[in-house]
Amino acid sequence: MADPKGFLRYDRVDPPKRPRDERVSDWREVYADLDAAERDRAVRTQATRCMDCGIPFCHSGSAGCPLGNLIPEWNDLVRQGDWARAADRLHATNNFPEFTGKLCPAPCEAACVLAISPSSGGPVSIKRVEETIAAHAWESGEVRAQQATVSTGRSVAVVGSGPAGLAAAQQLTRAGHEVTVFERDDRLGGLLRYGIPEFKMEKKVLDRRLAQLREEGTTFVTGCEVGVDVTVEQLRERFDAVVLAVGALRGRDDTSTPGRDLEGIHLAMEYLVPANRECEGDGPSAVRADGKHVVVVGGGDTGADCYGTAIRQGALSVTQLDRYPQPPSTRDDERSPWPTWPYVLRTYPVHEEAGERRFAVAVQRFVGDDEGRVREIELRHVEVRRDPETGNREVVPIGEEIDRLPADLVLLAIGFDGVERMPLLDGLGLSLTGRGTVSCGPDWQTRAPGVFVCGDAHRGASLVVWAIAEGRSAARAVDEYLTGASDLPAPVHPT
Ligand code: SF4
Repeated sequence: MADPKGFLRYDRVDPPKRPRDERVSDWREVYADLDAAERDRAVRTQATRCMDCGIPFCHSGSAGCPLGNLIPEWNDLVRQGDWARAADRLHATNNFPEFTGKLCPAPCEAACVLAISPSSGGPVSIKRVEETIAAHAWESGEVRAQQATVSTGRSVAVVGSGPAGLAAAQQLTRAGHEVTVFERDDRLGGLLRYGIPEFKMEKKVLDRRLAQLREEGTTFVTGCEVGVDVTVEQLRERFDAVVLAVGALRGRDDTSTPGRDLEGIHLAMEYLVPANRECEGDGPSAVRADGKHVVVVGGGDTGADCYGTAIRQGALSVTQLDRYPQPPSTRDDERSPWPTWPYVLRTYPVHEEAGERRFAVAVQRFVGDDEGRVREIELRHVEVRRDPETGNREVVPIGEEIDRLPADLVLLAIGFDGVERMPLLDGLGLSLTGRGTVSCGPDWQTRAPGVFVCGDAHRGASLVVWAIAEGRSAARAVDEYLTGASDLPAPVHPT
């Protein structure tokens, strides 16, 4: 039984970060390493703030957690200090809680009833509790390989080793299928490996999960592009079902802005991937920020990843541009009433480290030098208007004023346009939707029989928690397709 008054006794306290100077001089995660006993005590207090309210929006898929994480249940177990059962209940709905604990922006917290009013002390620190349960489980050796108890004799190819592919692979392996994950890169993990910087999640966190999957029996093949290195015919012959979890990595470009073809202007992933490879020991990236004035165009998560990476690489200055006006620092109830995702200024730890954010501005022109390298950006103040009839958004310049910013390296983090073109899709006879994604029926099956899709490839670029939820759900559909029935969970349905 939860403590209904815990939130009246304790305020929300966020985890301490390492000192700014220390963390910008290495690539380790920004949060401080606390003594385990001290950490557990602090997190038990935070879990005590959960009142296990009767209608827990935190774990409802419509507003809170798409995985349906059993949040009030494990909050109460943590409050009681029963970490082992808490880990069991956490893993019941989430294959990789340490990934979501570190990377998810926590729609569950936005939907927590304690987010309604600032006087309640703020939402329960669900993400912190989740991450600590996972940390505790790894430290105490409770995260072990779960070998399948049956073998179905059926085989599945999972294409892509990001969070959706890994979740699908783990579920299907545990259900007794023979699963092979194909990854075209030289290392496993997709965006978790080469998109997410170490300061958000260190790669050892990914590697220990991969070791667990291997021990359970999942086979991995790296450096193999399905559709090229393995033909579609070979794939179909060898496997009974295929899961496409190829992500949505086609970066949105800004080709209409004058000067875009200057040297020194890159899509975000052209910068982040080699930066992350450098951290893996692959040698210096050809696109580095040290000694440069860096401008990041785009105010979202990927922009913040570029921002923090540029600071750590020794940029002279870093400026992040957002075409939207600066949101309020607390929830704007008119624009986003609880429990919807709050319209509020999202500040990442990297924004506290250095640099500047500019709001309600857009690039008018990139200006170069005689050698064709970008040196400056001209900015206009803008307003984003929505056409009431079509719903389309339009960026409208306001006033005549032009600001100039020094810029030796410009990183375009303005979103993703869906799945990259790849021979595999042509080989399977699959075309992309207008959003650049692969469509499927209510059972996650694409137009190609026995070929399923999940994660960003189906949904478009989204949160890690959605990728895991879709991977789990697609796994159930595949299990049903192969055996006629399935006990696997399906937390979400195709959109
Ligand atoms: Fe606990 Fe908040 Fe979820 Fe209610 S909404 S069960 S208080 S975490």
